[in-house]
Amino acid sequence: MGVYPSILFDLIRMLSRLPGLGEKSATRIVMQLLRMPREEVRALAALIHRVRSEIRACSRCYHFTDAEVCDLCRDPSRDTGVLCVVESTADLLAIEQSGAFKGRYHVLQGVLAPLNAMGPENIRIRELMKRLDEEVVQEVIIATNPSGEGEATAHYLSRLLKDRPLRISRIAYGVPMGSDLKYIDRVTIERALKGRQPFG
Ligand SMILES: [Zn+2]
Repeated sequence: MGVYPSILFDLIRMLSRLPGLGEKSATRIVMQLLRMPREEVRALAALIHRVRSEIRACSRCYHFTDAEVCDLCRDPSRDTGVLCVVESTADLLAIEQSGAFKGRYHVLQGVLAPLNAMGPENIRIRELMKRLDEEVVQEVIIATNPSGEGEATAHYLSRLLKDRPLRISRIAYGVPMGSDLKYIDRVTIERALKGRQPFG
């Protein structure tokens, strides 16, 4: 006999597997769900389900979209000649919110992490090379995070790109080593982009 009915416990356990949620916060969320009007909970559950089934990766940049190609890739006002390579959509959003970048993105969906068996074939590097073959790009800004893995990924990319007729730059980090773009304020991100340095 548990303290909670088992389905309640199952929900708490599933929620607590989500990033940033321990068992305590998961329990608080479930208690709140039980207080909410049923209709609202139904709408929330339906929305989670819709997001999971309708949102997918943009076929060009791998940012999230509900269409074949995302709004950023389709936006004719953006500079197609500059490609900013980021680890994740969260990092893309952080740069977007800084307003300092008006080119296009490429989301790697990960970083090289040999210890976790993440090699070049596990992230969107092949897709990046294909884009560079097909699109007219003058500059690639490598905006992976200033962590060990982000640096290793940046160096790998710079070696891979060095024979192409491209300007390769790495964003300047006034950002402390080991930190993460998505937690950095927009002024720092803007400064990091403006102060980017030739790389490789
Ligand atoms: Zn896109």
